[in-house]
Amino acid sequence: FERLKTGLSRARKALFEGLSQILKGSKISDEILEELEERLLMADVGYPTTEYIIEQLKQSKTNDALETLKEIMIDLLSFDSKLNSPDQPPFVITVVGVNGTGKTTTVAKLAAYFQSTGKTVVLGAADTFRAAAIEQLREWGERTGSTVIYHSEGADSAAVAFDAVSHAKAREKDVVIIDTAGRLHTKKNLMEELKKVHRVIGKVVPGAPHEVLLVIDATTGQNGLVQAKVFKEMVDVTGIVITKLDGTAKGGISLAIKKELNLPIKFIGIGEGAEDLKPFDAKEFVEALID
Ligand code: GDP
Repeated sequence: FERLKTGLSRARKALFEGLSQILKGSKISDEILEELEERLLMADVGYPTTEYIIEQLKQSKTNDALETLKEIMIDLLSFDSKLNSPDQPPFVITVVGVNGTGKTTTVAKLAAYFQSTGKTVVLGAADTFRAAAIEQLREWGERTGSTVIYHSEGADSAAVAFDAVSHAKAREKDVVIIDTAGRLHTKKNLMEELKKVHRVIGKVVPGAPHEVLLVIDATTGQNGLVQAKVFKEMVDVTGIVITKLDGTAKGGISLAIKKELNLPIKFIGIGEGAEDLKPFDAKEFVEALID
């Protein structure tokens, strides 16, 4: 929790510094609402969700604005964040998102997370467009003790996914995590590539992938949401990972996910290390965000 709190310190400052004391134990006034509205918008909560929060507060007739605000926020962040793991291994996860959002790092963090629960992990380097991504994943594989399946740069990403999932199935590994390409400027090609990757995985393990996690970079604020909507149209996303929540005042987009995307946040990234990924918990998140 302390780690999360430190990670969210900039967002907490931007949203609540000097404000939480005023809200605590007091009724709502127009001045407070105005100040809060401004803060929410500045933290990239976005207009629809900001208006929703303000409206809910207005209607609440609360005697403790801070407690009520917490409740509204927890409600906005309450998702079914449980992973859709199958009865029979392998559990197949693909990680999608725009380049630079922290996709490859998230794959590595997920590997460390599953390893720490005693699972065996296979990683698939299906972002074949960037040699650096393949190299990066191989290094992470070594560090986290996961097998990495990779081809050369420019290889067919679906072939890599096929090999990774087949390997896991044959060797009875517990979890397969596939890194994918994220070149949004070639949207049509990317869509076809991602569809093919998912189709091929389903041929090896019927019903897979069980999770399609979309990575959103918190520092890109509302832009991240726009990109997320594009990905949601391309593939059947099952959950969101918000990365780089550490050191940004724009963590507010977390609050916008329910209204804008209607997808559960499953994990958050609060640093560059393998251990800096946390399963998402609404109550804990709000407690860390508000002093
Ligand atoms: P990809 O292109 O989407 O695969 O992005 P990468 O995984 O290569 O990450 C891009 C950069 O973001 C790297 O420098 C990562 O270390 C960094 N990064 C990823 N996740 C986080 C996070 O949660 N917090 C911070 N501070 N940096 C992160």
